Amino acid sequence: MSPSKVKIAIIGGGVAGSSAALCFAGAGLDVTLFEKENSLISGPPWCHLHAGGNLYREISDSQCVSLLKQSIDFLRFYPFVVDYRPTVIALPLTDSSTPQALLPRLEMLTDEYKRLIATDKQNEVLGKPDNYYRLYTRKRLEELKEQQTLLSPQSLDEWMIPVAKMIDLDSVQYPLVMVQEYGLNLFRMAAGMTEMLESLPTVTLQTKSIVHNVQQNADTGGWNISYVKEDISHTQTFDYLINAAGFRTGKIDDLLGAPCKSMVEFKAAYVSHWEGSDGIQFPEIIFHGERGTPQGMAQFTPYPGGYFQLHGMTKEITLYEDGLVANTPFTCQPHLGQNFIEKIERSWTQEETTKRTHAAIRHLARFIPSFCSATVGSKPLFGAQQIPGSDPTLRVAEVSFPRARYARCEIVKVSSVLDMVEAIAQEFVQLGYIKSSTNLFTQHLHLDEATLSQLAVTIAKNRGYPADLACRNIPDKQEYR
Ligand SMILES: Cc1cc2nc3c(=O)[nH]c(=O)nc-3n(C[C@H](O)[C@H](O)[C@H](O)COP(=O)(O)OP(=O)(O)OC[C@H]3O[C@@H](n4cnc5c(N)ncnc54)[C@H](O)[C@@H]3O)c2cc1C
Repeated sequence: MSPSKVKIAIIGGGVAGSSAALCFAGAGLDVTLFEKENSLISGPPWCHLHAGGNLYREISDSQCVSLLKQSIDFLRFYPFVVDYRPTVIALPLTDSSTPQALLPRLEMLTDEYKRLIATDKQNEVLGKPDNYYRLYTRKRLEELKEQQTLLSPQSLDEWMIPVAKMIDLDSVQYPLVMVQEYGLNLFRMAAGMTEMLESLPTVTLQTKSIVHNVQQNADTGGWNISYVKEDISHTQTFDYLINAAGFRTGKIDDLLGAPCKSMVEFKAAYVSHWEGSDGIQFPEIIFHGERGTPQGMAQFTPYPGGYFQLHGMTKEITLYEDGLVANTPFTCQPHLGQNFIEKIERSWTQEETTKRTHAAIRHLARFIPSFCSATVGSKPLFGAQQIPGSDPTLRVAEVSFPRARYARCEIVKVSSVLDMVEAIAQEFVQLGYIKSSTNLFTQHLHLDEATLSQLAVTIAKNRGYPADLACRNIPDKQEYR
């Protein structure tokens, strides 16, 4: 069969389904992408690239290595989404571990980064490997504290100046670590992805379309997909089905009777506004802490315009009582409580937004005292995500093939999408749909920056978020000294 005759159905227009649509339509297959919302990338939020997994002390070295490699691939393929600012990692005095315990992993990741560059020079997207991380003593921070903050930091030391000035230097252990872990902007991904998919003649974008039934044809092995669009039900046939329905992946598995084991977790991040901080270029700042306890990790993610996205890994902030659920032998779809579904499908109460955002501000103000004057910036960024298997700490997962001509995508971190696409492509090669799984990621994506940034702002505003959340602090790759 020629590629243009092979019909692929993808359920879900999140980063997984959209990336699959982009790559396979780019390879000439006839792709239809079904998305129940009216725009793409409207599922749970994401803001960290995780280039090395340094936010997760509890995961294995091999997961960190996978995250490093996948993040480099992601950054190379989607550079327009990346906010090129480093991350500072601090261990509070109250933490049971020490910064020294982080060093072997950072060394191992530096070596791995060097190895990736040796295999392909173009992988050098996180700066020089010897600058992958840098340590800061208290003495050095005291020196930096006296220096002027800069609008456009050119070195790691210059990025550290506002940290030295703002954090309570008595509240953390030394050294602090600065690492080349960057930010991601999901509104820019939504805009860029829309632009790219709309320009591809081999993609049919079916937004506002809910897939409600899926049946495999016993004779052809193909799929009949039924969906509702504007109150009218339609059925179309396809050769291959990709389930990228995010936390609702299990619903489609149930329709097929596919074997499954999975979890779903509801989480939220809070948007705050800090008057007077506009114009100061902050790095991301992470204060480690044990997940699920009142000291859970605190994350301070800067945006332009004085906005900061906050996570606090406690049950009063990002995590929720009963927010993590597993499937049962009777259904592949983990049952999330109605209160979470209400939040996802309708809205938050003003009272809960205020309460949890202020809890997040207080959580960060333990280390950045002047941040206590921050206010609620907008409604939270929130959602439910899938975690395949039964290990809630799993951070690297891609795709499985539990039925013939069926791929089930279950990424945990967005950077895993290209390995996910690659695994499906290998299946397509075996089926004779495409000749090779290479060259899928080398296409040139022609994006007009003015159109993209304008659309990103429109999407953010339409979803009820400040326009600044659709903008990046540092738009272009820098070579920090
Ligand atoms: C608070 C929070 C913070 C996070 N931060 C990060 C981060 O910093 N970095 C990171 O890498 N990851 C982060 N994640 C995880 C990340 O959000 C997810 O891994 C990622 O969004 C999953 O993408 P996806 O495409 O698989 O699913 P989704 O984005 O959920 O997409 C699935 C899509 O399928 C659609 N759909 C479902 N059922 C149907 C149907 N029957 N018919 C049609 N359409 C359907 C949905 O509307 C949805 O748009 C975070 C998650 C949360 C909750």
